[in-house]
Amino acid sequence: MSADPLTLPRPGKLSLLGMPAANLVEFFENVDEKPYRARQIMRWLYQRYVTDYAQMTDLSVPLRKQLAAMTTLELPPVLRREQSDDGTRKWLLDVGANQAIETVYIPEPSRGTLCISSQAGCALDCAFCATGYQGFNRNLTSAEIIGQVVLAAREIAPAEITNVVFMGMGEPLANYRHVLPVVHLLIDDQAFGLSRRRVTISTAGIVPQMLKLADDCNVALAVSLHAPTDELRDRLVPINKVHPIAELLDACWKYAEGQASRSITFEYVMLDGINDSVAHARQLVKLLRNQPAKVNLIPFNAFPESEFRCSPQPTIDAFWQTLRNSGLIATIRRPRGDDIAAACGQLAGRVRDRQRVRLGDRVIGASSS
Ligand code: SAH
Repeated sequence: MSADPLTLPRPGKLSLLGMPAANLVEFFENVDEKPYRARQIMRWLYQRYVTDYAQMTDLSVPLRKQLAAMTTLELPPVLRREQSDDGTRKWLLDVGANQAIETVYIPEPSRGTLCISSQAGCALDCAFCATGYQGFNRNLTSAEIIGQVVLAAREIAPAEITNVVFMGMGEPLANYRHVLPVVHLLIDDQAFGLSRRRVTISTAGIVPQMLKLADDCNVALAVSLHAPTDELRDRLVPINKVHPIAELLDACWKYAEGQASRSITFEYVMLDGINDSVAHARQLVKLLRNQPAKVNLIPFNAFPESEFRCSPQPTIDAFWQTLRNSGLIATIRRPRGDDIAAACGQLAGRVRDRQRVRLGDRVIGASSS
């Protein structure tokens, strides 16, 4: 694979983790092995969470040695584990060069959701997000992304991970090249075998990649809308200046067409006095009414540098009621894991900004470190 300047993993051996099934078959053919070795390795990695060749007993000892010499299955080392009072768990993972990312597991009575990161930092600079505040360092590799799932599955009872959401650090569609193979492995029966509707890509609205994803692998889509007008969304989600609301929604409805009765989830963070009035709710209704849409209201989670406050509960309730009264499906997300800074938008990991120009107004022309 050619070097990608935005993805500079630690130098070293070829990683078979995260490699698409077809490439794995090709790899084994190139070393004069049978193609079914690919399936064996995938079973070890993604169904038994074994990343030590020595334990792969259906491979011959010489092959195990050869693989260990040529390749790696290394997972990002865990720097810290935390557990919230509500059962939410968080891992801080070392991705080299003094960068760290976070993965969160959220148990609920009827499902268990693993929230994974796709980038060290984020370049999109959304005004209310802790990850964006830190800036962007690099794209994660497929191995680093799928590695989060393998690691979590090994540490919690695997059957308890029923859903995987790309809602950790980073903008998954800005790292399409490394995210897509992971999405394929998550739904592949030879690998994790989740159903498409249980894998969610969340995006701030990178329209060309949304349309590409619709063709490549139409898993569930969540869109971070957060404002009903371009004027306000330009300020909160600066990518809106590139792909404004009309263009974004057009792409959403196209995406939904390929999805047989599944709707798009619109995330809407509740910011006190900014986007939370009943008038805003009515504008939102106009945008989404009679479309395959549901709205997820997210109470704003504060982080040390944030300038916003969360809307008071009665304001959130009134907003929700306005949506419901006009027939929209809307839910209010219950904050989880906020005592360990694991809630939406609180994931900061450890990122050194390498980006000089950001999309938003916060840092332009200077690196923050
Ligand atoms: N980059 C992707 C995924 C990131 S985060 C995206 O933008 O969708 C997942 C969700 O958390 C997004 O909807 C994001 O806007 C929201 N979020 C970010 N910061 C938040 C905060 N401080 N409080 C609540 N939600 C936040």
